[in-house]
Amino acid sequence: MTASAPLSPGRRPTHLVLNQVPPLVGFDVADDAALLTALHREGGGWAEPELHDLGLLAGSARIQEHARLANINKPVLRTHDAHGYRVDEVDFHPSWHELMGVAVGHGLHAAPWSDPRVGAHVARAAKFIVWTQAEAGHGCPISMTYSSVPALRQAPDLAAAYEPLLAAPVHDPGLRVPTAKAGLLAGMAMTEKQGGSDVRANTTRATPAGDGSFLLTGHKWFCSAPMCDLFLVLAQAPEGLSCFLLPRVLPDGSRNAMFIQRLKDKLGNTSNASSEVEYDEAVAWPVGELGRGVPTIINMVSATRLDCVLGSSAAIRQATVIAANYASQRTSFGAQLIDHPAMTSVVADLTLESEAATTIALRLAGAADRAARGDEAEAALLRVALPAAKYWICKRTPMITGEALECLGGNGYVEDYSPLPRLLRDSPLNSIWEGSGNVTALDVLRALARTPDGAEAVLGEIDLAASDPRVAAAAASLRGLLKEAASDRQTGERTARLLAGQLAVTLQGALLARHAPAAVADAFCASRLGPGTAGPGAPLGSLPEGLDLAGILVRSAVTSR
Ligand SMILES: Cc1cc2nc3c(=O)[nH]c(=O)nc-3n(C[C@H](O)[C@H](O)[C@H](O)COP(=O)(O)OP(=O)(O)OC[C@H]3O[C@@H](n4cnc5c(N)ncnc54)[C@H](O)[C@@H]3O)c2cc1C
Repeated sequence: MTASAPLSPGRRPTHLVLNQVPPLVGFDVADDAALLTALHREGGGWAEPELHDLGLLAGSARIQEHARLANINKPVLRTHDAHGYRVDEVDFHPSWHELMGVAVGHGLHAAPWSDPRVGAHVARAAKFIVWTQAEAGHGCPISMTYSSVPALRQAPDLAAAYEPLLAAPVHDPGLRVPTAKAGLLAGMAMTEKQGGSDVRANTTRATPAGDGSFLLTGHKWFCSAPMCDLFLVLAQAPEGLSCFLLPRVLPDGSRNAMFIQRLKDKLGNTSNASSEVEYDEAVAWPVGELGRGVPTIINMVSATRLDCVLGSSAAIRQATVIAANYASQRTSFGAQLIDHPAMTSVVADLTLESEAATTIALRLAGAADRAARGDEAEAALLRVALPAAKYWICKRTPMITGEALECLGGNGYVEDYSPLPRLLRDSPLNSIWEGSGNVTALDVLRALARTPDGAEAVLGEIDLAASDPRVAAAAASLRGLLKEAASDRQTGERTARLLAGQLAVTLQGALLARHAPAAVADAFCASRLGPGTAGPGAPLGSLPEGLDLAGILVRSAVTSR
């Protein structure tokens, strides 16, 4: 509890400040046992020292102030200069650039591509989880840059020219010839007015220019981080929907014909600029085979989906830690909030969600790391489990951040008290990005149909924990759902969300049963798996009797330095 400031002489004590919890700053965000053990287990343990450097930075008052400033000072579009020439610039607050500098400097945008040692994607994933807890909005261009590389590699000449600069640890903002810059950022433009999920409906045209390049004419309804240097764009070529690389500045130094129409006025994600753009014969080069735009860009989408899981896991952890910290310092009715049984149950339940989200997120990062090295079984597991985890974790994040916010009572609802209002506003976005809920759940079905070993890869992983009867029962029920979904398409589509959710929760339970402390694993399985439990859909704080809640709460308790 903080004491009130001393009264000035003669003043009555009308404004004593009592029972307010100091801001949660000056701690190591990477001081997260679930994250650190998963980092080591999945092969990225060598990155732990850097993770703590980043964690101390993310937890510092200085960086949290940059996060606040980057969000209250929204990016501003300057379409023209004073003389009427088009400039198409977006001006960001200096705090945005500060955050970007740290993210790029620590390789969150591309380190595994320049230093592909074992565990590189795992290390990057853990760093992304830690640094997202500083501020989430700038993760958008960071994530798109990371994800652009596997797609770009399908055009080896373009990759040779740009990959080293995309992977360079230098944030070099400003519009210049890409090859003359010290570091590059990449974006992705697929969504048009008439539809984002069904990109085959894209109307942007790509006409061959005769020299290997194409001229793109049309629009994109959503194009985030329009200040990126390069964009992967979908457009209709004579051969069909194709993927192109479109630079904002052409090799001769002239501006490409990509015009930013306006910035979106969004619910959250306010530090990040999301725009509408038009192309008027913009020059672009094909990436991958013409007519195979979707399979080409899907490499990028898969990586950004993993980042949606990582980003939402970060939001869940951050919200949980803020709630736990508050509840352990605030008193009501003569006791610490955390000691009131109903609140103990809520914070413990939030902690379980955080442990489960982090554990599956790092497991998938490990699968991505091993798949990148040619491990087919891990690639199969990733194809099925990633959309399921993306569906489930991103969809739960608004509920979890909302519940964490409520742990602070009215203070939770107040903008300058904690970052929770920002977290809540940001929280639905990862579920919309890269396939909104239904589309992602349907992708689980698609992945199962196209990946013969996919179901077995996931079930095999779950069966490793089958000595726990609750995991075994959930696995049996999942097998039934998989069979039912495969029986006919209508049933499959109708039950897609159920299947995706159950697959994700069962995998979470199995992973916790093998790797988490007994208190965490036991409570997760007892409350979320199998008949007779309240189930994963129950409101948070409905944990059954007889669990070791103290053993759970230590996992979300942080210490200020
Ligand atoms: C802040 C923000 C930034 C963005 N940045 C970018 C960007 O940089 N680049 C980019 O390309 N896109 C971007 N997007 C677009 C985003 O990826 C799309 O909004 C998303 O893919 C959904 O497309 P849509 O909005 O056209 O919705 P629709 O495709 O119209 O879908 C509407 C709803 O219908 C559901 N639905 C669709 N098809 C089916 C089906 N067959 N069965 C059942 N349900 C279905 C969807 O799940 C969704 O809930 C951004 C969006 C936001 C909000």
